Amino acid sequence: MDNTAATASEAPFLNLHEYQSKALFAEFGVPVPQGRVAKTAAEAAEAAKALGGALWVVKAQVHAGGRGKAGGVKLARSVEEVREHAAGMLGTQLVTHQSGPDGLPVDTVYVEQGSDIERELYLSLLVDRGRERVVIMASAAGGMDIEAVAETSPEKILTVAIHPAVGLSDYQVRQLGFGLGLNGPQQAELRDLLGKLVELFERCDASLVEVNPLIVTKSGNVMALDAKINVEDNALFRQQRLEALRDPAQEDEQERAARAHDLNYVSLDGNIACMVNGAGLAMATMDLIQLHGGEPANFLDVGGGATAQRVTEAFKIILANPKVEAILVNIFGGIVRCDLIAEGIVGAVKEVGVRVPVVVRLEGTNVDQGRALLAGSGVDIVAATDLTDAAVKVIALSKQGQS
Ligand code: GDP
Ligand code: MG
Repeated sequence: MDNTAATASEAPFLNLHEYQSKALFAEFGVPVPQGRVAKTAAEAAEAAKALGGALWVVKAQVHAGGRGKAGGVKLARSVEEVREHAAGMLGTQLVTHQSGPDGLPVDTVYVEQGSDIERELYLSLLVDRGRERVVIMASAAGGMDIEAVAETSPEKILTVAIHPAVGLSDYQVRQLGFGLGLNGPQQAELRDLLGKLVELFERCDASLVEVNPLIVTKSGNVMALDAKINVEDNALFRQQRLEALRDPAQEDEQERAARAHDLNYVSLDGNIACMVNGAGLAMATMDLIQLHGGEPANFLDVGGGATAQRVTEAFKIILANPKVEAILVNIFGGIVRCDLIAEGIVGAVKEVGVRVPVVVRLEGTNVDQGRALLAGSGVDIVAATDLTDAAVKVIALSKQGQS
């Protein structure tokens, strides 16, 4: 699936470009069209000449699906047309239904030899956390929005779960092959392709490999026409080669800065920034803001050791988001003492020059000293007694900023 709930920019995984994913496919022996990367229209024309043939596809390389409908995938019947399509895409922001309203920058196009398509199928491998298995999902209704298929006709989606010890079984491949309406030789190609994709999935620590569409060509062969790979963040330490493929231009700026400081940050659409220690408490804080009619601007877990330096970095990242109109700091001093946290907050507010109201709710070890420090700091911080009080106060203050 195109990443269940998370969009490209807010996800705990490394997203690869189509051309990078296809290079990996090729490396593992999965059939893909011949293609070349281009950064200028002239390079695109050169790529088309080098590839040869009479039909090409120019594809915008962005971390979002739905490019076809948005003008990011175009067929060309001459080298000149390849040049024109590339010129039209490069340097623009491509807005698709997955890209967010601002779109994503197109600084690379992929020029491919055009394929003659008989049928478009859907295929993906992903981790099913409920079943604790890697599952393969496939559908004869490929090429289009698979979420819509799942919604309106879920029976059209076939799912098989791979046994971790046994691996993918022949009967499962046959189940998929018949379900997709493939003939004998095509089922043999599917078996080969699935075996390779499963190997890629495991060796690359992928959380998602999606091929939409997997095509049957007019000559009757099975081939991956689109490719998407997500690599599990927690495995990146042993996937240095894939980490090197990261394209920061496609990523959210604040999330990138947060990653550099080991802060767990996710950009959201609201105006109330949150700084919390502990992911569970951060989720609860966001829920409470919403319960009282506010919208969180981010998820941010500063971690158990909320040191002054981390709090300062966290304030900088939060404030880089222009939508932020108030900040709620919610820290439970368990491992770290509240007085130290309070010092950190005061120091950070002074150093960063916070321009919006800050509401702080502290609880835990040495909470009285912590609150006294905040009150006597001379810095404009609103103290809250409990979480509900904090949520109500921060929402009220964010509204004042708007009037
Ligand atoms: P997406 O829209 O971002 O998922 O981009 P895709 O790579 O899936 O391409 C979108 C659609 O463009 C595909 O479903 C095909 O219908 C069409 N398309 C892509 N490549 C080719 C090609 O080589 N030949 C033809 N005829 N159509 C293509
Ligand atoms: Mg696609």
